[in-house]
Amino acid sequence: MASPTLISDAPLNGASAATADFQPEVFDQHVMATYSRFPIALERGEGCRVWDANGREYLDFVAGIATCLLGHAHPRMVEAVTTQIKKLHHVSNLYYIPEQGALAQWLTEHSCADRVFFCNSGAEANEGAIKLARKYAHTELGIESPVIITANASFHGRTLATVTATGQPKYQKNFDPLVPGFHYVPYNDIEALKAAIAQLDADQRQVAAILLEPMQGEGGVCPGNPVYFKQIRQLCDETGILLILDEVQVGMGRTGNLWGYETVGVEPDIFTAAKGLGGGVPIGAVLAKRHCDIFKASEHGTTFGGNPFVCGVALQVCQTLEATDLLANVRSRGQQLRKGLKAITQKYPQLCAGKRGWGLINGLVLREDTDTVALDIVKAALEEGLLVIPAGPKVVRLVPPLIVSAAEVDEAIALLDRTLSKLA
Ligand SMILES: *Cc1c(COP(=O)(O)O)cnc(C)c1O
Repeated sequence: MASPTLISDAPLNGASAATADFQPEVFDQHVMATYSRFPIALERGEGCRVWDANGREYLDFVAGIATCLLGHAHPRMVEAVTTQIKKLHHVSNLYYIPEQGALAQWLTEHSCADRVFFCNSGAEANEGAIKLARKYAHTELGIESPVIITANASFHGRTLATVTATGQPKYQKNFDPLVPGFHYVPYNDIEALKAAIAQLDADQRQVAAILLEPMQGEGGVCPGNPVYFKQIRQLCDETGILLILDEVQVGMGRTGNLWGYETVGVEPDIFTAAKGLGGGVPIGAVLAKRHCDIFKASEHGTTFGGNPFVCGVALQVCQTLEATDLLANVRSRGQQLRKGLKAITQKYPQLCAGKRGWGLINGLVLREDTDTVALDIVKAALEEGLLVIPAGPKVVRLVPPLIVSAAEVDEAIALLDRTLSKLA
């Protein structure tokens, strides 16, 4: 036991003080301006609902950006967090961590991967996958200066390598020199991909890997074409190029299958997960098949990655997903939501061009020839008590917790209807 003087029993009032008299101006004085924030402070959540500091209720179809799979304050998460923090929350990967082993086993038994490396975010998972692919290129393929192909309009994260992998110049501006060894192609276009590989070959630049999202989330909720992915898989099998899939947003059941790669009908050599994996605790993972599971001791690492706390909670999230058959809910609620979005599109043809998505990642697509952008709708929906987010300038993205009920989907559609009726 620690000496009594080191254990204070003074009342803890930090957290309540932080939300009681919340002042955005004071916040902005102290926190970097990396986000343009909506003018509400969220204080509490339960299921698919959150409440702001003034007690106002919102239906949450953002879920921490496709992250809170079990919604807010889910009893099983509360239980897992409490149990784990009382037991052990952090040690180091210098020692065996049973919770990490159990989570890795669950993931390998429920995917095509053989082994897992844990880290803390989607970007860090993609960094790990990029390092793994580069090592594979050097040691297994004998490529001196490997190139990784990614897609235009993709999103892979904000670190230097992942922002370079991200095929959107707006995220790269002013951060050059970027990381060498990336090349971009249009998404869902096999001929463009083949031409790029041939051109790189002619320039003595060899392709080591193709890194893609099964569906482009941030880039506009654009589903991958299964035919395209099957052609890529075949091309990779013929050439030895690795197929890496970024499952950070669409993995963990969001598409109605556990992994987005099932939805496009191929198995990757390496894939990454993060957002939904911990249901909201920060965790990322690199998952690899046997042949490219080639990191050796001390070649890659992280202090926090895979600690008992996040792994204990993430394991509970995975087991809950399975035990409560959440995938079935994702599929039926997704269909219901798209039916509602279709009706909205038909009711407001002057604003809406259509809807697209899989499972519980869906987008309401706005007409290109109107001045209304997704952000206008997102702001107006917030006024009505519905949280949604843009995916690019012209798509309103809906990514509710996977536990969303039929009544809540109907409610979201009604709130969106009311929002559009005021804007139209
Ligand atoms: C959000 C996201 C990332 C980045 O994840 P972070 O946890 O924010 O680093 C990477 N790839 C995809 C597809 C994402 O949606």
